Formats: sequence, C-alpha cells, structure tokens
Amino acid sequence: MNHKNFENHSKNFPTKDGYFGEYGGAFLPPELIPVFKEITEAYQELSNNADFINELRTIRKNFQGRPTPIHHCRRLSKKLGKLQIYLKREDLNHTGAHKINHCMGEGLLAKYMGKTKIIAETGAGQHGVALATAAAYFGLECDIYMGEVDIAKQHPNVVRMKMLGAQVIPVSHGLKTLKEAVDSAFEAYLKEYKTAIYCIGSVVGPHPFPMMVRDFQSVIGTEARMQFMEITGGLPDKICACVGGGSNAMGLFSAFLADPTEIIGIEPGGTGSNPGEHAASLTHGTSGLLHGFKSLLLQDDKNEPMPVHSIASGLDYPSVGPEHAFLKDSGRVNYEIVDDEEAMEAFFALCRYEGIIPAIESSHAVAYAMRCARAGEFGNILVNLSGRGDKDIDYIYEKYGTGAKFTI
Ligand SMILES: *Cc1c(COP(=O)(O)O)cnc(C)c1O
Repeated sequence: MNHKNFENHSKNFPTKDGYFGEYGGAFLPPELIPVFKEITEAYQELSNNADFINELRTIRKNFQGRPTPIHHCRRLSKKLGKLQIYLKREDLNHTGAHKINHCMGEGLLAKYMGKTKIIAETGAGQHGVALATAAAYFGLECDIYMGEVDIAKQHPNVVRMKMLGAQVIPVSHGLKTLKEAVDSAFEAYLKEYKTAIYCIGSVVGPHPFPMMVRDFQSVIGTEARMQFMEITGGLPDKICACVGGGSNAMGLFSAFLADPTEIIGIEPGGTGSNPGEHAASLTHGTSGLLHGFKSLLLQDDKNEPMPVHSIASGLDYPSVGPEHAFLKDSGRVNYEIVDDEEAMEAFFALCRYEGIIPAIESSHAVAYAMRCARAGEFGNILVNLSGRGDKDIDYIYEKYGTGAKFTI
C-alpha cells in the first residue's frame, strides 16, 4: 500500500487549475470562465475566514445534528463471521443523508458572496431537497431544474422541495431526465450568474466544485477517524462507501488516505455488466468529458454518455468525480462492484439485525462489508451509511414485499 505518498494529498490536489492528475479541470463556455474564477477565489478566501468556519461549525452542530455517531453492528457481525462491522451514521443528519453537508456549505458560500439565489438540477430529488433546505435556512431563492420523467417518478421529493419554498422547474426536452436537467440549469445560470450561484450535487462538475464539495464532506472522515480511535483504540483495517458521483465516499476517504487503512469504493453493478445494465464508471469507463470536467465515463463510440442503471437512483450517473479516477489509477483506493440483488440483501439484513433502515445507495457499501465477513476476514471495517431508507420503502415494498426471499 502506498499510503505514505498521500500525506499532503488534499493540499496538493487539485492543482490550481483543478486537476487530479489527468482528470478534472473546468471545460466551460467562455462567459462562465470568469464566473467560476470568482467562485474559486471566494472559496479560497472563505475557507480561511474564521467567521465562515465558525458559522459552518455552528450549523453542523445545531441544525444538522453533528457529530453523527458510529454504530457497532454487533448482531450482524456475529451472524456473519469474525469481521466487526461499524457504521458511520450519516443517515442521522437532518434531511436523512450526507448531501446536507455540502448543501449547507454551498448555501453559506452563496450568502457570503452576496448572492440571492441558488440554482441546481436534481435527478431523484435528493440533492434538490437538501439544497431547498439550505435555501430556506439562509433565506435564498432556490430554482431546481428537474426532468419531467423524474418529476412524475419522484412525487414526494417534488412536494418536499415546494413545501420548503423552492421552485421546481420542469425540463421537457430530450429524455427529460438528469442530463437534460443539468443542461437547463446551466443555461439558466448563464443568464443569472450575477445574482445566483450554481450548486452542484456531488464531487463532480467543473473546478472548483469537486474540491469544494470534497472539503465540505470531509467532516465525515475527520469525525469518523477520531470516533473510531476512541471506540476501538486504533484505526479501521478497512473503510468503504458507495460511489455515485462520489461525495460521501470522498468525505470519508479523505481523512484516511495517509493511513495504512485499506480503502474501497463500491460501484453500482445493477443487473449485469453489459452497457445499460450498470453504472460502474470507474470499473467499466474510459477517459472522457461530461458536464464540464474530465473523468472516467461510460460512453459510446460517439463519446455520448451511455444509459446507466442502478436500483439506487442516487448512484446512476455515467461518470464519477475526477478525484476517484485519480485515486483508482494511483492504486490507493480499490473499487469493487455490488449489484442490485446483493444491495437488497444487505438492506434487509440491516433492517432485521440492527434496527436501521438504510438507503439503497448505502446498502451497496453494507453489502461489501457482509461479503468480506462471509469470506472469513477478521479485524474491522467502517462503512459509510450515507443515508436513511425511508425514501425507498414504498418502491421496495412493491418489488420485494418485506423481503421474505432474503434470509441470511
Ligand atoms: C445521492 C446519494 C448518494 C450518491 O452520491 P455520492 O455523491 O456518490 O455520495 C449516496 N447515498 C445517498 C443516501 C444519496 O442520497
């Protein structure tokens, strides 16, 4: 393991131009180049500003409910073997997932920059709800662009965003899903950048977003590392997290890169390894451009992003944060695949053995820990439980009932 090379990783990467090795950058229409430069400069100044840092700390403690605890899965671990499974409980954040960590950061940045509106796109609606929450907290206007297909599928999240005071703007061109919503949000931003700021939902997009979102999410890893040492007296042997765009994973991983801890990112294997059946961009992707940054991408021979599938809507994105592509190439992080069925088995196991209903996204990471335990591994593993599963239960109940076929 080459962890010693990573002692100053977060300081050294990204470079000034937003690169993690060959990945990252900012591929923007000319009008937006100065706009992103302004955001980068504002962020660099504010990340050293005591008022900004203190306000964010207070928000995390009194609004989000941080620090989130670490839970030792005693019953599940005992049932499966010797490996001790621990969870970092990001599902206990206000709004039920880790996304609020960077949305409150982005909202605070908007406030300090004197912006009055935040703009974003949303796919399943999770990012939209977290951002609408931040907008309400800071008294900002909030425009969320969402494909008409997703609006029909994600009714409860659409209602939540509206109740929180956001405008949900339907996108009716093309396939009417996430990709078109990103295009429309960018178009709107081009017209409104003087008063608005664009807020991205993961460690993706043009520089400085992969860096900013990582930094805002790094609270997960910083807390978890201290808590884990306090509980067990040492570092975890392994840590893992699910990877969609990669924000909850980067948040956890960033604190452990220079440690001798093994790090594993879990990609959604969907229903198979053919194109369109999965969303495993690190495992099956090739270098390419999407949404203003360079990374590993699931693309066809015309360099168009390929259709993707995962049972977890938060994981079905055809690319991935550039820092993950870099960490994969460097060999510091390994990426493994968990498919829909294995994730569902883990979902029901966590419900029954620990009294925790996890998000299907997070269940992918739990499934990997269960796989290691069954393979006879010992020691311990820390899993990032990125979110709670309340949003998923209607869908799961329809498809799997109460999970009678999953007995462990
Ligand atoms: C959105 C989401 C994810 C995937 O996003 P990352 O940027 O990869 O973290 C994972 N888990 C939950 C609960 C989510 O809502």
